[in-house]
Amino acid sequence: MTQIVTFSELMRWVRCPASWRFRYQLRVKPRPPTPLTMSWGSLMHAAIERIRDGEDGRELIAPWLGERTDEAQRADQNPWNPMRDSADYVENAAALAKAARWHLDYYTAREVSRAYLHQALWLEQPFLVSVPDRSGRSRGDLWLLGVLDEVSMLEGDPCVVERKTTGVRDLRKFQTGLDHDVQVPGYAYAVQELLGLPRLPAVEYDVLRRGMPATPKLVGNGSKRSPYRLDFRVKDTTWGQAADHLARERRRLSLEEPDALWDEEKIQAYVDVLGGPASWQDRYQYEIRSQQVLEWQRTVTQVARSIRQAGRTPGHGVFADRSECSRWGCAYKEVCWAQGSWCGIDAFEACGYEIEEDNNPTRHREVYQGKPVLTTPALVKRAREMGLDAVEPARSR
Ligand code: SF4
Repeated sequence: MTQIVTFSELMRWVRCPASWRFRYQLRVKPRPPTPLTMSWGSLMHAAIERIRDGEDGRELIAPWLGERTDEAQRADQNPWNPMRDSADYVENAAALAKAARWHLDYYTAREVSRAYLHQALWLEQPFLVSVPDRSGRSRGDLWLLGVLDEVSMLEGDPCVVERKTTGVRDLRKFQTGLDHDVQVPGYAYAVQELLGLPRLPAVEYDVLRRGMPATPKLVGNGSKRSPYRLDFRVKDTTWGQAADHLARERRRLSLEEPDALWDEEKIQAYVDVLGGPASWQDRYQYEIRSQQVLEWQRTVTQVARSIRQAGRTPGHGVFADRSECSRWGCAYKEVCWAQGSWCGIDAFEACGYEIEEDNNPTRHREVYQGKPVLTTPALVKRAREMGLDAVEPARSR
């Protein structure tokens, strides 16, 4: 029998099998409020999609903040809610809304200048492909359903653009983590299959650091012993902010202290570092190696097998290693920690959790949300028979 898996399902299993069981087997909805990191990522994705369509993505910020505030107020009425500290939550959401505005202003300007380079082929495009076996041939029984952020034509060749929001403060660290990313090799493989390419397409990571850069601090007192320079906290600011701030301060101080001295060498060193990978928004060209596709295939196959086994024995619990438990922010922790990861649906109902209707076999609709799902011609008929009604063969477009 064919099994369809999505990246969110796979990643939930990898992070915690018990949380997978609650979400996908018992169909317990996570408690509001939505974790801010996740919700901010979705806001930025949606806003950037609008910008790429030539619209103003910033219009989405105010409704996003309104929804977060409502969610937090509802959660605050439940004393058991694991994320009920709505004062902090609302304050952080407001700070992130401000950051979203800063990022989108900057992004809009940047997109205008690079639009001629990338011609978008697909934006937020759902896809369905068959996972390859070890020899690289498509297998018939395991399919992957996902959404491609963007596929563009770059100098005549397709390029996968993957948008990431990250809390990592040092983007060099972020770059080293890319070698272990199992999602993007899967996307590159999907584009290769959908477009019938002879090799994996190019990949670009489009990265936004979560939050907003701080204005750099001017230090020193302008004397010979301590000339003015910028405080070397490169992780908290950007080149643009530093340059603007420097120009403003120089103008102001040239009137107030016309004899003040500036340490030009240190200022230049500061600006040079900001021009590197410590930026708040950046794009990385990345080459996916065939070894990474193999690793991706192995992970998907192993996790899908575990999910299938767990699905065959719905009465059994899925045990989680508590020492690995990332319960901070886990929407199920109040029940899981009181009753154990093998508890039944009644424990959640007693705590007032909402349980989803039985929506199989079309539970994956939430992934593609009404958009046509592109697939290879070989999968169209079977996918429609399985209830995925909106499938289209990719190469006929
Ligand atoms: S509380 Fe911990 S073990 Fe339980 S579902 Fe959440 S992350 Fe998993």
